[in-house]
Amino acid sequence: MARLFQTLIFAASATRVFASCAYGTHLMPRAEGEVKVSTFGYFGANGPLNWAALALPENSACATGTNQSPINMVEEVFQVIPAADVTFEVNDMPDGAEFENLGTTVEVITQGGRLVLDNKEFALQQFHFHLPSEHLDNGTSQAMEMHMVHQAEDGQIAVVGVYINIATEAAPAAAKRSLSSRSRLFGRQENVTAPPASSGAPSTLLETLFSVVDQISVPGSKVTTPPLVMSEVVDAVKAGSFQAYSGSLTTPPCSENVNWRVSTAKLNVSPASFIKARDVIGFNSRFPQNAPGSPNILMVSALGSAAAAVSVAGTAPAA
Ligand SMILES: [Zn+2]
Repeated sequence: MARLFQTLIFAASATRVFASCAYGTHLMPRAEGEVKVSTFGYFGANGPLNWAALALPENSACATGTNQSPINMVEEVFQVIPAADVTFEVNDMPDGAEFENLGTTVEVITQGGRLVLDNKEFALQQFHFHLPSEHLDNGTSQAMEMHMVHQAEDGQIAVVGVYINIATEAAPAAAKRSLSSRSRLFGRQENVTAPPASSGAPSTLLETLFSVVDQISVPGSKVTTPPLVMSEVVDAVKAGSFQAYSGSLTTPPCSENVNWRVSTAKLNVSPASFIKARDVIGFNSRFPQNAPGSPNILMVSALGSAAAAVSVAGTAPAA
């Protein structure tokens, strides 16, 4: 059965894959001055059922790896770590940041930040968005998920995942004022009133970012964002816990040994900003994978499909 599966993989096209969750890391070095558009996708022959075949052997883990992401986040698959005990810092970006459309996601190129896990330092490279969420929060999909991608000197990757829900409250007047006057007032962040992320009010960072997402609706395009205050996200994450597990990139090449830290703190996005982001991102969520340590769900599926084919052939009426 495994040979049948390999044959199917080799028979498919071998298109190179250019960008992913790992864009900007050693796995997918960023090209100077241009935005490289991904060649993998989320449906049909370019979709996650067929990612391995798009580039072999680089993407083989997508079909054979046994610690693949995303997963359903239920208690038995992760360790809970209080985020207050973890060094997690993200630099503000007072001059704005480069915001790119990679074709498969929209991504912000960060300007410094770090995560320290077991005395190992990971430097923040970028953050990007999935819609809907890739991880499931105890079986429940969230509106979006932000991935903050970090890399250590030895190339290992650590990702902080933050769920994003639809805001149930309007932005407080103070937050609205701070948005409109952010450019002038930047440098006096201590006076900016950002709503607590758990309040149901929209995140100031997300509202600021998605105010310009329609300017990068074309894959390969980029824009400079307004000034970005990252302390709101850091404070929200630090107030919660991390659900920690060892998984993979959720995009080709699906490399494993990725340190996942999914935050229990959630951000909110206003309905209007969610629609703007959705109209640019479309759909970019890999289906949930088998529990860590279990056989890859595509291998399980291939065996099941082959068994079904044998069964159908055996029962077919003679012509
Ligand atoms: Zn991602």
